[in-house]
Amino acid sequence: MDAHPPADDAADPTVADLIAARPSLAMHPMDGLVFEDVPLNAIADALGTPVWVYGAGTIRRRLAALHTAVAGLPVHVHYAVKANDHLAVLRVMAAGGAGADVVSAGEFLRARRAGIAAADIVFSGVGKTADELRLAIGAGVGQINVESAAELAMISAVASGLGRAAPVALRINPDVDAGTHAKITTGRADNKFGIAYDDAVALYTHAATLPGIAPVGIALHIGSQILSLAPYRDAYARAAEMVRALRAAGQSVSRVDCGGGLGIGYRDGPGASPAAFAGALRAAFGGLDVELMIEPGRWLVGPAGLLLASVVLTKAREKFVVIDAAMNDLVRPAMYDAWHAIVPLGAGNAAGPVRPVDVVGPVCESGDTFARGRALPALAAGDRVALLDAGAYGAVMSSTYNARPLAPIVLVDGARWAVVRARQTLEELWAAERIPDFLDDTPRR
Ligand code: PLP
Repeated sequence: MDAHPPADDAADPTVADLIAARPSLAMHPMDGLVFEDVPLNAIADALGTPVWVYGAGTIRRRLAALHTAVAGLPVHVHYAVKANDHLAVLRVMAAGGAGADVVSAGEFLRARRAGIAAADIVFSGVGKTADELRLAIGAGVGQINVESAAELAMISAVASGLGRAAPVALRINPDVDAGTHAKITTGRADNKFGIAYDDAVALYTHAATLPGIAPVGIALHIGSQILSLAPYRDAYARAAEMVRALRAAGQSVSRVDCGGGLGIGYRDGPGASPAAFAGALRAAFGGLDVELMIEPGRWLVGPAGLLLASVVLTKAREKFVVIDAAMNDLVRPAMYDAWHAIVPLGAGNAAGPVRPVDVVGPVCESGDTFARGRALPALAAGDRVALLDAGAYGAVMSSTYNARPLAPIVLVDGARWAVVRARQTLEELWAAERIPDFLDDTPRR
């Protein structure tokens, strides 16, 4: 029996198609896969694999394209730091005029460290602690998106204690299905996020009476990797209706934070269109006299990152290609069944006939699988591949499971590149661990 049935070429885009759809990538006959102007083999030669590569030029171009799409609207971009929180990435965002959307003290301080002013930071998240609120309010955070009545009371107490008035937006839950993966939909009534739509006017009215609270508007975020405009239109129509209802109740509303969620084309298709998204913003809020904020993460940085890996071996008559990157590096396929393009770094490799293989990592979990039955050119031990579109929710979600050190990160900018995070050493894995004295009697083998 043939262990390698013919590939269903129609199902998977070809390597040439994948590269053609990504302006930052090119296949050079001698140098192989080139990202911006840097041959990726040069990085792998210098640092080994696995290694992450981010493109500063790519991020800059995407942020500029988003700004162009929303030009003419009173929109401020607050980059969602959770997507990729590296200081160098945040510095590129700051230089491009973006503020930040953060969900923890760590993200707040990262954004500050990268040069983003506290006033340009929005603090989101369903479980901010009193310590985190104290830090952010004390530093002059631009806005806190409140997710519950209990949190509002906490903010009031913390801000009053500091003698400040915290600018607050109520995150409403519009009860709209974003039509995305269940683990990244956030705007349905049964999700943990936001304040029930029907409770929002009463809570906003209450907020306006509390010490230490300056209500400035409302916020919403319905989910991630959204590729259709319909859920945005529905949610924004509900948000606009809420602004009118609040004003009718005598409240002042000057801001609407429209959240993030713009999807990218991981497999085929162009991803969400910023121009169409801007159209949805204009349609809902055009005549409302409100400042708008948006919180994109994935769309800005997803296509600006790659994970390079090497083939360790193939097995089971080459059905499995085992690479040296694993789910501890890039968890998205295991966690969300995410599809990431896999492209050989060598021009010769990339041009060969394809057949279906499973690309897997070495971690002891069946879920440590990057692709099943993927039509790929032949790959042998030592060949290198790039997992594309790994710049968002990639390195930030890495772990050291199976005692695998965190991979290094390189930042490319045109033809220049620099290591922006060193490979973690094995010793660093246990450097903070201690064996307590009471185990000292235990006989050692
Ligand atoms: N804003 C909030 C409140 C979020 O929770 C998220 C992520 O889920 C984002 C923005 C960014 O989403 P995305 O990366 O899909 O644009």
